[in-house]
Amino acid sequence: MTALLTIEGMTTRLRVGERTIYAVDGLSLEIECGQTFALLGESGCGKSMTALSIMRLLPDAGEVTQGSVRLHAQDLLTLPESAMRELRGNRIAMVFQEPMLSLNPVMTVGAQIAEVLQRHTSMNKPAIQSRMIELLQNVSIPDPAQRLTEYPFQFSGGMKQRVMIAMALAARPELLIADEPTTALDVTIQAQVLDLMRVLQQQTGMAILLITHDLGVVAEMAHQIGVMYAGEMVECTSREKFFQQPAHPYSQKLFAALPSRQKRDRALAVIGGEIPALSKSFTGCRFADRCEQAWSVCHASIPPWVKIAPGHQVRCHLYTAQNTSKTKPAVTPS
Ligand code: SF4
Ligand code: MG
Repeated sequence: MTALLTIEGMTTRLRVGERTIYAVDGLSLEIECGQTFALLGESGCGKSMTALSIMRLLPDAGEVTQGSVRLHAQDLLTLPESAMRELRGNRIAMVFQEPMLSLNPVMTVGAQIAEVLQRHTSMNKPAIQSRMIELLQNVSIPDPAQRLTEYPFQFSGGMKQRVMIAMALAARPELLIADEPTTALDVTIQAQVLDLMRVLQQQTGMAILLITHDLGVVAEMAHQIGVMYAGEMVECTSREKFFQQPAHPYSQKLFAALPSRQKRDRALAVIGGEIPALSKSFTGCRFADRCEQAWSVCHASIPPWVKIAPGHQVRCHLYTAQNTSKTKPAVTPS
C-alpha cells in the first residue's frame, strides 16, 4: 500500500506572550489510502494542533518550525498559500467537533454546500443541485431537497454533523481529517455517524485521520493508532496489537483507568497528575511524573523509539536494549 500522507519530524510551536509552547514535537506518521489512522490522547496533548498544522490553519501565534508533511510526494508546508487554499476542502477536508462553529448560521445548508462545489469543481447549477441531494442522501438525511433550503438551526446536533460530513465529502477528498467528530453527540447518534464515516470510506477509498480521546471510537474505526502524550507520539501500532497489548505505560493507563471490562465502549477516564507544561525542554520521559514504573533513567534521559514487534513501536525505557537498571528490569517484548 502507498502512503497518502507522510508526516516526518513535525514540530509546531505557539507563542503565548513571552512563552513558547511546543504543542507538537517531532511527530511522524504515515496514513495509507483507504485507512483510518487514529490519534489518541487526552485533551491538550497536541492532537488538534497536528490537524491544524497539516491544514496550515494554525492561529497567527503558531508555526511549524521543523519537519515535513507530504500528500503523496507534495510537501504541503512549502506550497504557496494559493495552492494550499485550492487543496483544502478539495483534496483534504476537515470535520470539527462542534459543527455550529463551522456552519454559517445565516446561510442555508444548500448555499453552503454549493459554495464548496463551486469553488472546487466546474459543475453547473443543475449538476450542483443533484450532487447536493446525492450528498445529503449519502449521509442519510431524509427529504434532502427540502433540507437544502433550511438553515443550520433547523437541524439537530447529529444532523448538523452529517451536514458537515456531507460538505467535507463534497469535493471527494483523498483525506478526511476528523477532529473529535462525534464528541458532542449522544451515544446513539455517535454510532450512526461513525458507521456513516466507515461506509463512506469503503465507498470512496478516502483516508481518515481521526482525532479522538475515546478508546471506543478507536476500537470501532482505526486501522492504525498513534498515542500522543504531551506533544509527542509515544506508541504507534495497529488496532489489533494495541488492543491486545498496549505497550507504553501511558497507553496501559488509558486502559486501566476504564471503569469496567467493556473497555471498547468507554471514553478515557482521567489519569492522576497533569500533562507537563510544554514550554520547558525535557531532559527525560515526559510521562515520568505520572508513571508508576518510572525510575532514575526515566528522568535523566529521553526515551528513544524502540521497535518491540513488527509494526509496533514504543518510546519508553522499559524496552530499550541498554536498560540494565537493577531497579526496573527490562521487559521482554513478546
Ligand atoms: Fe514510564 Fe520510564 Fe517508560 Fe517514561 S520511559 S513511560 S517514565 S517507564
Ligand atoms: Mg482537540
